[in-house]
Amino acid sequence: MPDTNLMPIAGLDNPVTTPRDVTPREDGRIDLVGLPQARICEILEEAGLDTKQAKLRSKQIFHWLYHRGATEFADMTDISKTMRPWMEEHFILGRPNIIEAQHSTDGTRKWLLQTDDGHDFEMVFIPDADRGTLCVSSQVGCTLNCTFCATGTMRLVRNLTPGEIVGQVMLARDALGEWPKGKMDISDEADAAEYRADGRLLTNIVMMGMGEPLYNFDNVRDALKLVMDGHGLALSKRRITLSTSGVVPMMARCGEEIGVNLAVSLHAVNKEVRDEIVPINRKYGLEELLQACADYPGASNARRITFEYVMLKDKNDSDADAHELVRLIKQYDLPAKVNLIPFNPWPGSAYECSTPERIKSFSNIVFEAGISAPVRTPRGRDIDAACGQLKTAAEKKSRAERDREAAAADAE
Ligand code: SAH
Ligand code: SF4
Repeated sequence: MPDTNLMPIAGLDNPVTTPRDVTPREDGRIDLVGLPQARICEILEEAGLDTKQAKLRSKQIFHWLYHRGATEFADMTDISKTMRPWMEEHFILGRPNIIEAQHSTDGTRKWLLQTDDGHDFEMVFIPDADRGTLCVSSQVGCTLNCTFCATGTMRLVRNLTPGEIVGQVMLARDALGEWPKGKMDISDEADAAEYRADGRLLTNIVMMGMGEPLYNFDNVRDALKLVMDGHGLALSKRRITLSTSGVVPMMARCGEEIGVNLAVSLHAVNKEVRDEIVPINRKYGLEELLQACADYPGASNARRITFEYVMLKDKNDSDADAHELVRLIKQYDLPAKVNLIPFNPWPGSAYECSTPERIKSFSNIVFEAGISAPVRTPRGRDIDAACGQLKTAAEKKSRAERDREAAAADAE
């Protein structure tokens, strides 16, 4: 079992909660990234501002922080010059630390990041012709032990905070140069209109990095609220997908309280194989999982549930498996699409990827039943861009080597 001492897991039935929203820092300052406007307001009051001032300043800070991407109070031109040093003294606008930044020949970018208390996690950006998808992590490691997943071999260190989750999206916008320009005046509507989605590189977010997002429900929800807030990062919930390995008791709340698209890591169509490769299946079986999908709030033909299916040679890839997948989707009348993911091997993994012919045959069977079943092109293979792989590779590097690379990343 993973060692979860640093942050006890409240039983696998419950998501892991993190009661403190403000992580104490050694220098005594408070990191405002990850906090909603109402909380920033409270904190400003606690630090000494009167209610009216705190309200106004929290609105301004919220806008600069999440909508404009400010990393320093000095940039907040509509906050008086005399107040900015006071803010600098009490608060920071943090970002995750970059340990390593890699750029694949196919355009995929991958970052190995680190929390302030020294835990590594990762984030991947995958550009396509018509979209750019950021793959965001929710935990350092994972309590679940899916046998094909490199993250599953790591112990869970801790949940990421809302700031560390939304911080990934903010860091990606920094790196891609995608914060809106303009006159920076929030009272000016014409200026606000400069914030357009068209032409942007980062258009979609998937919660498919390290960790099980539904075991860190509160923090993921709070972070995604900031991402979806029109006054915040302003990304539509239709462009956000949360992937779960099947934490059935949290799925309805995910639909109700977050409202994003759902992806389910199905990977097998019978109990025997799914119990083995996605062990949470022993707790929440296929019938329960598919029923929760059928009940998922907001799912419709226009907003389908994605079933992820990793293609493992001689394990889950037969024609019979494909037919069974179709039968299950029809039995539960699911508005579904299937993503076939070629297995990306990692050092020590016990599986091989199915042959291209096998994947094609599987895909054809699902397609012929009227269900979309594209085969995902492996991306960023030259930089180990699959879940959990960069971190595993980086753990083998020396400290000096990492420091050198971090310095180079800063200079980029
Ligand atoms: N814990 C969540 C989200 C993170 S994993 C979940 O399991 O859904 C997201 C996806 O990464 C999984 O569905 C799996 O398909 C994919 N994945 C993990 N390891 C992989 C590998 N070695 N090759 C291909 N896909 C992998
Ligand atoms: Fe955790 Fe998802 Fe990997 Fe399974 S596939 S070990 S749930 S990150």
